[in-house]
Amino acid sequence: MNRRIPGVLTLEAPAVPEVPVVFDSPHSGTVYPDDFDYAAPEHIVRTGEDTYVEELYAAAPGFGAAFLKAHFPRAYIDANRATADIDQELLDEPWPGPVTPSIKTTSGIGLIWRMARPGCSIYARKLTVAEVKTRIDTYHQPYQHILMETVSGVKQRFGRVWHVNCHSMPAVSDERSPEGAGIRRADFVLGDRDGTTCAPDFTAYVAGEIRAMGYRVALNDPFKGVELVRMVGAPAEGRHSLQIEVNRDLFLDDATKVKTAGFEKLKADITTLIGKICDFAKARTEIA
Ligand SMILES: [Zn+2]
Repeated sequence: MNRRIPGVLTLEAPAVPEVPVVFDSPHSGTVYPDDFDYAAPEHIVRTGEDTYVEELYAAAPGFGAAFLKAHFPRAYIDANRATADIDQELLDEPWPGPVTPSIKTTSGIGLIWRMARPGCSIYARKLTVAEVKTRIDTYHQPYQHILMETVSGVKQRFGRVWHVNCHSMPAVSDERSPEGAGIRRADFVLGDRDGTTCAPDFTAYVAGEIRAMGYRVALNDPFKGVELVRMVGAPAEGRHSLQIEVNRDLFLDDATKVKTAGFEKLKADITTLIGKICDFAKARTEIA
C-alpha cells in the first residue's frame, strides 16, 4: 500500500507482484520546511542533497520492490543518523536525552547539520531543544520507522530481504571527507560497513553488475554506510543491507543542480541494475 506524509516521505508499494527487495532514498528531498530558518546561502545548503536520486531509482516499484523516499532536505535533519547523534554546539540549552555524537557530528554533519560545508555555518542562531525534538518526531522517526516496518514486513513474507540504500556523492572529496581533500571518486561506491550489513555475495554481485556496465566501483572506500544500513542489516537473520553511492558528475551539475546529458543513460543503467538486484533476491528466495 502506498503511504504519503506530505513534506515528509512517500512509500511506494510494488506495482507488480512483490519481490523481497526494498529501496530507499533518504537524502533526495527538496521540500524545505518553513521553520528551517537557515542563514547560509541556499546553493550551499543544497549541497547536502542527493538531488534526483529518487528519479534515478524510480523504476523500483515496477520490478516489485518497495521504494521509500524522504521529501525533507538532509541539512534540516538527516534520516541516515542515529537519534542520539546530537550536536550540543547547535543548541541553546542542554539536550535532555542521551547524546552520543558520531565522527560525522564533530565535522558538523550529525543528525542536525551545523555546517553546510567546511567554514560555512548553516545557522546564524542556536536551535531550541523543542525545535530539534519536533524535527525528530515529525521527520526523522517516521522515516526510520516506516523503513524498518517495510523491511520487516518483506522479511516476514519471504524469510529474507535485501535493502538498497541509495545516495549520491560529490565528484571530488573536500576537507571533511574521510579520504582528505581533492580526490576524484569512483563512479559508484558500495558500502556494507566492511562486510557486516549484508552477505558478501550480495555486495560482490552488485559490484560485478555495475562493473559489467563499464563503471568504476569502489567498496567501502570512502563511504561504508552509516545508520540506515547499520539499522537494517543483520545478515545472520536474513536482512541484507547495502549502500550505493553514485558519483554526481555522471548526471548532475552539482553547483546549479541541473541535470546533465548523462542523466538518462545513468537512469537506464540503474534501471537495469534494479532488475538484476530483484532477480538476485528472487532466485535466493525460491531456494530458501
Ligand atoms: Zn546521501
